Amino acid sequence: MGIAQRLYSDFLLPSRMDEYRRLIERALEKNYIHLTLLEYFSLLKESKIDPDLKYFLHRHDIDTDPDTARAFFEIELELGVKTSYYFRLKTMDIDLYREMVDQGYEAGYHYEELSDFCKRNGIKQKENVQLRFSEIRELFKKNVRAIEEKTGKKIRSVAAHGDFVNRKLSLPNFSFVNEELLLELKIELECYHPMLIHSLDFIGSDTHYPRFYTPSSPFEAIEKNIPVIYLLSHPRHWRRNILLNLADDVQRFKEGVLFN
Ligand SMILES: [Zn+2]
Repeated sequence: MGIAQRLYSDFLLPSRMDEYRRLIERALEKNYIHLTLLEYFSLLKESKIDPDLKYFLHRHDIDTDPDTARAFFEIELELGVKTSYYFRLKTMDIDLYREMVDQGYEAGYHYEELSDFCKRNGIKQKENVQLRFSEIRELFKKNVRAIEEKTGKKIRSVAAHGDFVNRKLSLPNFSFVNEELLLELKIELECYHPMLIHSLDFIGSDTHYPRFYTPSSPFEAIEKNIPVIYLLSHPRHWRRNILLNLADDVQRFKEGVLFN
């Protein structure tokens, strides 16, 4: 993406929250059922996905800006649809998190211990990260337990954050997560679970102006009556928050310089 597009996207983009409302309204008109990822995953494990129904699964990764997460949540509450939210340590809004869980939404942890660990320790080789998995697992456990303590809510699902460090190392943030770790922490789902991913008929994500969606629009997927639609979204593509985006861009630039 060019610098001009990034600047436009981060600082000038008009709010797209009305478009978000229209997306849900259209899915409802077309008889989609909105489930949280855990609700859907439970049905999937029990072979209870009904082939005569259509499902809409929405994962919100709150990379920045919990206020926009609240704006999404309020629209969803009003329209009576449930989705799933994943917060980073630095975007965790305790009150919002609790409200979401209390309303039956999925709120979980958007974790990045692996990429963080590599940045802090200057690790640039995939093989060297793999040698440190047990330390990274301990950090993950500590963070999961700290969030549970602060929110008073059990973390039932987690989703890996994608960092530029992961792309450089060709090692995703979920690579240290295994069944044993999830069992120990009583976490029921890591969102990149192959069984979940393989069951989806459309996997889409939001992206920067001017494309907005990749690989194609969820509106098209709805019009085509695709049975299981999965949409991943991030606050910054829907509503600008100038100071937050600026801080995030500066942080990303600094980390890029340090990591090179
Ligand atoms: Zn993320």
